Amino acid sequence: SQTNIYHSPRRSVPLPPLTTPLSITSYLFSILNSHPPPPHTAALIDALTRRRILYSDFILRIKTLAFSLKTKFNLSKNDTAFVLSQNSIHVPILCFSLFLIGVTVSPSNPANTKPEILRQIQLSKPVIAFATSEAADIIPSLKCGTILLDSLEFESFMTSQLDERDLDSELDRVSVSQLDPAAILYSSGTTGMIKGVVLTQRNWISSLAGALAVRSVRETPAVALCAVPYFHVYGFRYCVTALALGQSLVCMGRFDFGVFLRAIEELTVNHVALAPPIVFTMAQDGGSMNGYDLSKLESLACGGAPLTLSIIKKLKQRLPQVQLAQGYGLTESTGRVFGTEGPKECQVVGATGKLAPNCEAKIVDADTGIAQPPGKPGELWIRGSFTMKGYVGDEEATANVLDSAGWLRTGDLCYIDNEGFLFYLDRIKELIKYKGYQVGLEVAPAELEHLLQSHPDIVDAAVIPYPDELAGQVPMAFVVRKCGRIIDESKIMDFINKQVAPYKRIRQVNFINSLPRNASGKVLRKELIKLAQSSTISK
Ligand code: AMP
Repeated sequence: SQTNIYHSPRRSVPLPPLTTPLSITSYLFSILNSHPPPPHTAALIDALTRRRILYSDFILRIKTLAFSLKTKFNLSKNDTAFVLSQNSIHVPILCFSLFLIGVTVSPSNPANTKPEILRQIQLSKPVIAFATSEAADIIPSLKCGTILLDSLEFESFMTSQLDERDLDSELDRVSVSQLDPAAILYSSGTTGMIKGVVLTQRNWISSLAGALAVRSVRETPAVALCAVPYFHVYGFRYCVTALALGQSLVCMGRFDFGVFLRAIEELTVNHVALAPPIVFTMAQDGGSMNGYDLSKLESLACGGAPLTLSIIKKLKQRLPQVQLAQGYGLTESTGRVFGTEGPKECQVVGATGKLAPNCEAKIVDADTGIAQPPGKPGELWIRGSFTMKGYVGDEEATANVLDSAGWLRTGDLCYIDNEGFLFYLDRIKELIKYKGYQVGLEVAPAELEHLLQSHPDIVDAAVIPYPDELAGQVPMAFVVRKCGRIIDESKIMDFINKQVAPYKRIRQVNFINSLPRNASGKVLRKELIKLAQSSTISK
């Protein structure tokens, strides 16, 4: 039934007809053609070396590299390329060139362990890999080998003997369908086995079209710095959008707070995209930002994991001129499907924004399967042209999250209010099941984490379920104390327990130097659960 289905309040965006052969790269080129950035605008800037690649060169390099890879390695549709690199100016060029010849790009985190990489390679079956020399050793031998991104050889692939017109006529012979796979991304692995999420060219085209629909190109191109890894959907989507808007994208490898702040000042960065842990640092440790001129910074985007209210408030005090834009999305939805746009929406405390263009959503009650009215929590389901094709080689897992009507089950407990704002509560699987008074009660760890993080002596906190003979599970906290503060377990429990219902009370507090988080900033609660079981934690 159509009751309680939410539609996007944003203007809907026309997408190219599905039958038109089109890759995300050709789509990007057509946007840049119709709104060309002013001459001499840098597309990419290396945050450390300050090397710049102008838009004209960026486009030429993509085409040249695509042509080289096609002719030298015979790469073509149905091939997959594995990419293992920190963020760099080479990664966007490489990915766009592969998309252009229909090769599926499978980017991974260089911090992964060998068994993780082997599992990923088993899933995506690449014929070639591209890696930085520090990361390359871990990759097993592949049909076409591994190309080092920091080598002269790679550089030579981007320098052409052919002029642009000849390149175009060669590349025009490749026909990429919008339904072809474009990328296999590995889902964060915070729950269950590593899965390969297949995103099509169409998924990326609609994700970009949606992002552009709510933004306008300005006269002077903005400078954007994405500190989120490009191998994560959030980072790559941010890159694609910035480049389609003709912005200069500052690329920064391993995160370093000093390099980050210096780049913002010296390159007059206007927009940054961050994962929550860096936002925490900026909000808590304002001192290290003193001495840098951050006045050109207009907006800060954050997504991938929850931001607490106290962090939002602290950040506002430190950087009053900066608009904090939040977004919610999944790898399976090609990134952001809810987001805040404009100053008014950014001020709605706790909300992660409104539905993106061309999207539908519903909040489904777990027991009845019925779509809920505004204000009532349940599982968030979303539908639109951005939902993944499926998990590679795993029909069962795909069928568990994607139904025949095209709805994607997010596994997240959320509600949508009367105005269409999304409020995220927690991962359904990570709810703490307290069976106290014979009734099943559920505690959202995120609620307790928000409260913990509002304490002035606490920098970061996570809550996990802990087995309890009587109640089944009770909440246990892991707390990172602010440097020099000595707040103890009983004070923390007092602070929380007077603010919550008895069944939500924290029963044990452990202190830890930092929380294990993944590349997009999610707390790895599973690792904390293991730590709690191993009882090696300090009290
Ligand atoms: P990933 O596939 O790594 O992007 O992870 C997707 C998951 O991240 C979602 O299902 C949410 O649980 C979580 N997530 C993404 N954005 C947010 C947000 N703004 N607030 C809270 N959780 C988020």
